[in-house]
Amino acid sequence: MIRTKILATMGPACSTTETLLSLFEAGADVCRLNFSHGALDQHLKMLNTIREAASKFEHPIAILGDLCGPKIRLGEVADIDQTGGMPIKVGDELIIQRNPIVGRDGRVSCTYKNFVDDVAVGDRILIEDGMLRFVCTDKNFNEVACRCTIGGILKSSKGVNLPNTTINIPSITERDWQCTDWAIENDLDYLALSFVRKPEDLNLLREHLRNKDSDIQLIAKIEKVEAIKQIDGILDAADGLMVARGDLGVEMDVAQVPIIQKDLIRRCQTAGKPVIVATQMLQSMIEEASPTRAEVSDVANAIFDGTDAVMLSGETSVGKFPVGAVHTMAHVAEVTEDYLISSAVALPSTGPAPTTLRYSAAIAAGVYRIVRDLKVSLVVVWSQTGATARIFSKHRFPVPIIALSSDRRALRRMALHYGVVPQEMAPPANMGELVAQVDLLVRDREFATLGQRIVIVAGAALGTPGTLNGILVHTIGEETSNLPAVPTILEIGRP
Ligand code: ATP
Ligand code: MG
Ligand code: MG
Repeated sequence: MIRTKILATMGPACSTTETLLSLFEAGADVCRLNFSHGALDQHLKMLNTIREAASKFEHPIAILGDLCGPKIRLGEVADIDQTGGMPIKVGDELIIQRNPIVGRDGRVSCTYKNFVDDVAVGDRILIEDGMLRFVCTDKNFNEVACRCTIGGILKSSKGVNLPNTTINIPSITERDWQCTDWAIENDLDYLALSFVRKPEDLNLLREHLRNKDSDIQLIAKIEKVEAIKQIDGILDAADGLMVARGDLGVEMDVAQVPIIQKDLIRRCQTAGKPVIVATQMLQSMIEEASPTRAEVSDVANAIFDGTDAVMLSGETSVGKFPVGAVHTMAHVAEVTEDYLISSAVALPSTGPAPTTLRYSAAIAAGVYRIVRDLKVSLVVVWSQTGATARIFSKHRFPVPIIALSSDRRALRRMALHYGVVPQEMAPPANMGELVAQVDLLVRDREFATLGQRIVIVAGAALGTPGTLNGILVHTIGEETSNLPAVPTILEIGRP
């Protein structure tokens, strides 16, 4: 059982129930639907397949929809000579025209209709996270001419970055609103917004969700310099962050990316919010069966930095080894976590700032101390909405956190939190019943064995948020009668 959560981007390479089940069994916890690729009816088909596979799997699987935001993309490009797109070499001229066409013969279009107006001669045009590069050499009302400085293959729908150009696209586009409504209708768990520039971008989306009675959680993708400048407000407005390294690495100096990654992870730790590290984590596995040493180090280092989750993009959506990529990630996570737990590197954890969900944070800090000092093998917490599980997760306990709730949405969301194992349970009538049920559950699922000590954290009114007030140390298999109905005192089973 690994603690680091794995996001897998959905696509043609993993579109069957069997492949998805293999991804889940290999360790994928969250499925990402990238609205930048494919129409909504294709996403619906994918979603139904995910739900079918998830219903056959023992752990809850969360679904994250990724909104394009103001990201410019290439239009359709023809597949020339089975290269998957249109090859282009250094020095070649490329025309990017205003009106949509299927790209071929050195001519393409993009999704932003004012592209020709905004780009100036001398501006840099980067495609596919900067893999292909161009400089604008000339333009007229209908088209922009540019010269290739780094060549490759231009493919349909690849992202276009304009690091020197101010563009005039609203933060949430018409298409994003459509996708948001689709996400609400289809009960997605998370929505990520690309190219967030300011807190208002998220507030706007949140207001829309509220008006539609939706509590989908919002992840801000950090990939713009503007976002870094307003990070406090953005983190406040979001439910979590994604370190979207692909665009970040072309929007600013690529050498800044590791530093920003560490900084964002640390901020999320303090704020008690989840964070995802994304892009090129096992990039070479799109083509190869095994990763590069650098990629393995990258995954491990993201975990050392304290990320909740690591993400696979093309590796699972279009790669040749989607299951192998998840396996590799899970294996690296397992070895890294074992090292973290067995060495002093992991300890002590500071957890979130005491100002964040104060009650839960204080109790989590206490439980952390108990786990450390009393040889406890498991923490079980009743977390009806998932908020408590989220705060506990940030302490990076050396033992797993079993988080109980009767709310399936809350359980699915917990799939993103480091170290949290979501478990469905109907609210027991009292503390005694809870302890008895937990005792059975952890033995049944082999989370702990007879005679092992566990910590149970719950409130007097189980299932009612905000009533967390009891810490109980329980020994598996021990008699549980005579417990007070209201567990306001600390009970030590065996000192
Ligand atoms: P973002 O900036 O949002 O990450 P991206 O273009 O980098 O967008 P990823 O989700 O990172 O997209 O996936 C990597 C590549 O995999 C994409 O560029 C695309 O070629 C391919 N891909 C992803 N999802 C799909 C899909 N549903 N169908 C076809 N191709 C896909
Ligand atoms: Mg991006
Ligand atoms: Mg990407």
